[in-house]
Amino acid sequence: MSFSSEVKNELCRVSMQRACCTRAEAYGALLHASVFSHREIRLSTENAVVARRLQALLQRAFFVECEPQRQGRKYQIVLDQSAQIGRIFDALGYDRKSHVTYHLNRNELEEACCLASFLRGAFLMAGTVAGPEKKSHLEMKSGHQSLAGEEMSLMLDLGLSPKLAHRGGSCLLYFKDSASVEDFLTRIGAPHAAMALMEAKVEKNLRNTINRQVNCETANLVKTADAAARQIAAIRTVLDTHGEEAFPENLRETVRLRLAYPTDTLAELAQRFDPPISKPGLSHRLKKITEFASKED
Ligand SMILES: [Zn+2]
Repeated sequence: MSFSSEVKNELCRVSMQRACCTRAEAYGALLHASVFSHREIRLSTENAVVARRLQALLQRAFFVECEPQRQGRKYQIVLDQSAQIGRIFDALGYDRKSHVTYHLNRNELEEACCLASFLRGAFLMAGTVAGPEKKSHLEMKSGHQSLAGEEMSLMLDLGLSPKLAHRGGSCLLYFKDSASVEDFLTRIGAPHAAMALMEAKVEKNLRNTINRQVNCETANLVKTADAAARQIAAIRTVLDTHGEEAFPENLRETVRLRLAYPTDTLAELAQRFDPPISKPGLSHRLKKITEFASKED
């Protein structure tokens, strides 16, 4: 199942207790119907759960009885009786004879609770959202520029800031940053889906951080090992040709310890001196040794 379907299934479980919100949700869905006119209302969806939700919304909000019909991959709800359409138009404040229905009648959405419900209905019909494994993206499509503009201002009222784009003949309202996607889903009634996105993001960040640390530590280890290998090679060159006596007295302990503990870091090796010496002190001596070796070479 796609993540969008999971989100929609979660949205379809939101209770229909408040009459104002039930009507607002139905309204959001109707404005994204394939046909919403005074002659016909046609809602279509590929999601069976959404089809049942639409049926219940129309029944509860407008006392309109209908049955979703399966057509290929889609489920359709078609209303063509003027009495049914009239009830819906009256309830939403539309003129029964008017053709212009694809605009948002804000009088119907006075309560703050209803704004989110309206967007839920709209998202059920026209929304998609990328899953946790993908880049953040949520969009809502509308065939009507004016509607997209009105929905945008409605989202702004809720503190959400979508972007607007055009694709083909459609307008898209979309969010690309994960925080806005999560916020939107939470607001319209899918907090579990929002949480899934959030957890995936946290996990990904954590993985990246760990990878960075491991890379960094590996790089340091390689650097230490390289330096030690160079020092040891230099020492061996001198020892092989001239023996330990070739080294000045004050460097001999360093020579012995470096050979005895080839994998030690500077800090570890410095501690092995009796008494221990400082890291810069050791570094200085090792530098002297390599310089001395290159001269002897
Ligand atoms: Zn409400």
